[in-house]
Amino acid sequence: MTATDGAQDVTHEARRRRSFAVISHPDAGKSTLTEALALHARVISEAGAVHGKAGRRGVVSDWMSMEQARGISITSAALQFEYRDCVINLLDTPGHADFSEDTYRVLSAVDSAVMLLDAAKGLEPQTLKLFDVCRHRGIPVLTFINKWDRPGREALELCDELLERIELQPMPLTWPVGVAGQFRGVVDLDDGAFVRYERTAGGATVAPEYRMSPDDAEAEVGEDWTRAVEEAELLTSSDGEFDPTRYEDASATPVLFGAAVLNFGVRRLLDLLIDLAPAPEPRKDADGAPRPLDGEFSAFVFKVQTGMDPAHRDQVAFARVCSGVFERGMVVTNATTKRPFATKYVQQVFGQQRSTMDTAYPGDVIGLVNATALRVGDTLYSGKPAVRFPGLPQFAPAHFAVARPADLSRSKQFRKGVDQLAAEGVVQLLRSDLRGDASPVFAAVGPMQFEVASHRLEHEFSCPVVLDRLPYSAVRRLGDSSQRGIVDAGRRSEVLDRGDGTELALFEDEMSMRVMLRQHPELALESLLAEGD
Ligand code: GDP
Repeated sequence: MTATDGAQDVTHEARRRRSFAVISHPDAGKSTLTEALALHARVISEAGAVHGKAGRRGVVSDWMSMEQARGISITSAALQFEYRDCVINLLDTPGHADFSEDTYRVLSAVDSAVMLLDAAKGLEPQTLKLFDVCRHRGIPVLTFINKWDRPGREALELCDELLERIELQPMPLTWPVGVAGQFRGVVDLDDGAFVRYERTAGGATVAPEYRMSPDDAEAEVGEDWTRAVEEAELLTSSDGEFDPTRYEDASATPVLFGAAVLNFGVRRLLDLLIDLAPAPEPRKDADGAPRPLDGEFSAFVFKVQTGMDPAHRDQVAFARVCSGVFERGMVVTNATTKRPFATKYVQQVFGQQRSTMDTAYPGDVIGLVNATALRVGDTLYSGKPAVRFPGLPQFAPAHFAVARPADLSRSKQFRKGVDQLAAEGVVQLLRSDLRGDASPVFAAVGPMQFEVASHRLEHEFSCPVVLDRLPYSAVRRLGDSSQRGIVDAGRRSEVLDRGDGTELALFEDEMSMRVMLRQHPELALESLLAEGD
């Protein structure tokens, strides 16, 4: 094989990759949808098969056993499968108690997102936070409105909510026939046909779909059909007409309606991912120069999982391939330390066939085992030129705690450990002159970050810590340093400095912040994006 063949191969492989994540609030149906996607891609033949019939919940979240049972390639960070002529990488966005900065960071490793909404609930807090990050990064979003088989809100109202709350223009591609709870199928707005869904036993297999002409649909369905067509027209005629460029520039979102648990609408979503969602593009390095896809291998680490068991200090670093071909066993350079890193142990994250198992292309996720030297944000590359991708972004924290060593004689270890954890992005570190250096404040997106931090301080730095939670829930960026005294004078508010130079103004809640703003209308408080910039 010549070098040109190799380059063509990489370009071809990159072009057929679709790497995406589902952004949703817990319980919207992410696990169910993941399973339904795998079902449609014929990765599994029956939903619920892995854990038996009792309770489909958590079936897919237990990805490892699905991998064993079905021979598909999954890491705890990504699920990979082939569909049509494409390779789909679905990256996991941990959502329940394990919601943390890692969840946000996953979005730096994807090329697009699927926003999954519960038809009865619409936009929920966690979805909004994740959407903020997508918007900030310009990630295009497809929307799937789920659970249409259950009573829920009106389709038009849900679409309005997208426009009004997050200024995202909905562009429906299907429209539900029958109100939520009496789902009969959808109008396919491509050609106006009625796609009728049939239930299968327990939603366990791919739901057959029947297409019917508009005339036949009107005769069969009657009023529900007419209303659906009228509603869809209302939206498409008022700026909601499908336009792929508006999806690409992330100003509008194609919308599908369905029911993941019954596999309704899932095939359409998969097809849309293939036909519309972007393939990997050359990633910009820290200086803004794009790294060509067919250049030498490069990747960046977006998640590091440390075994919580001190007896097994195993660590897996998950990296997204940005350019070139990854082959197991290759020795790569860590751009942060300039040290070589041998990739002998790679989790089986690649295709079903053995022949492709040791190779990964742009868009794929590799899981590097025993990677104790790797940190979130690190760049890996081989050959020349060297490359370094932008470092860790910081996100708007929501939980705060003062940290101090349980044993004061271990203050030195404490300082060392705390700096290390902050550098790795395990928690954010906040300080102020008022509090002094001895008791920094840990800030986190999810409370589990505190657990990881104290566990590591105790076991790696031999310094058990005491964490005292602070009662803050509203956080803003202080726009004018000279106003620091105003916030510090409040009874339940203060300003803390973050390593990136941001001054964070913290308040007990939104209400107390508004009270202070009323007294000091001159106060320059700026909302923090979910992603610090
Ligand atoms: P996750 O927390 O987002 O991963 O949500 P799950 O996939 O675990 O789903 C939460 C609950 O919603 C479970 O009881 C699912 O069976 C249920 N669910 C998911 N999709 C649908 C759907 O389309 N219709 C109905 N009725 N229930 C659903």
